[in-house]
Amino acid sequence: MSLHGAYDPDNIFAKILRGEIPSVKVWEDDEVLAFMDVFPQSEGHVLVVSKTSKARTLLDMEPEVLTRLTAAVQRTARAVEKALKPEGFSLMQFNGEAGGQTVFHLHFHIVPRWADRAMKGHGHAPMADVEHLKALASRIVAELD
Ligand code: AMP
Repeated sequence: MSLHGAYDPDNIFAKILRGEIPSVKVWEDDEVLAFMDVFPQSEGHVLVVSKTSKARTLLDMEPEVLTRLTAAVQRTARAVEKALKPEGFSLMQFNGEAGGQTVFHLHFHIVPRWADRAMKGHGHAPMADVEHLKALASRIVAELD
């Protein structure tokens, strides 16, 4: 998939947003959804998406939606930090297949980092136990401002 092209309404995040496939929600409002990455690159890997935009990549994204989404990323990252106490975190956002993107509904990754734990490769992490993800999401939600 290139940087350009039509939004696929059947991409996996669109299906999650329509409730057609399950996800482990962290929080949502009318505009954004934060949910656990089911193939986490580290403990507490969270994805944040717009519920209203059909942007595939950063290039397509409406600036006002991006502003709202970025604030949601910060709110989520603050809660992740309080809940899981990482030593750092990586904020990632991939564009185009050559850029590492696999799901073409713009999203941000919040990946907690610890100096003594290697981050798993993007697209190479095993599927997590859903009950474990739910427990992590509960801890993160408890720290939302
Ligand atoms: P990207 O490669 O940047 O497009 O990221 C897509 C992310 O979606 C990857 O980190 C995947 O692990 C994650 N992912 C794929 N399917 C699901 C799903 N059903 N629920 C949660 N995360 C998913």
